[in-house]
Amino acid sequence: MSDLLQLYQEIILRHNKNPRNYGRPGSFPHCASGHNPLCGDQVTVYWSVDGSCLSDIHFESQGCAISRASASIMTELLAGKTTEEASALYEEFSAALKNQGEEPSLGEGFGELVALSEVRKYPSRIKCATLAWQALLEGDF
Ligand code: ZN
Repeated sequence: MSDLLQLYQEIILRHNKNPRNYGRPGSFPHCASGHNPLCGDQVTVYWSVDGSCLSDIHFESQGCAISRASASIMTELLAGKTTEEASALYEEFSAALKNQGEEPSLGEGFGELVALSEVRKYPSRIKCATLAWQALLEGDF
């Protein structure tokens, strides 16, 4: 395994073990759930909107390490972003995962999410990596 792949795997395992912003907050104006029947993943995302920006993003999940790590990284990455910025990040992330050709080019601004770019080699797991994002972005604002 290359050093990079090992680093990516460590990031995923770390978020799976110690997910950020995990748990249902005391109050939350918005929440949405997603289910991935292929893998058995369930995720619920809770968030607030401060002005036009997402804030206080939390989640709970059951399922695989990929779905949990993706949700954990998402809660940090999207805090302070507008819904338009969040949608643009998701579109780019999703396109990189579906790119079976060239190396994906998740650039700056994606932080630890690059660790999930390897999921593109396992098309059946793409839904795991995008579940929390879809729940939030298709949620009720
Ligand atoms: Zn999964």
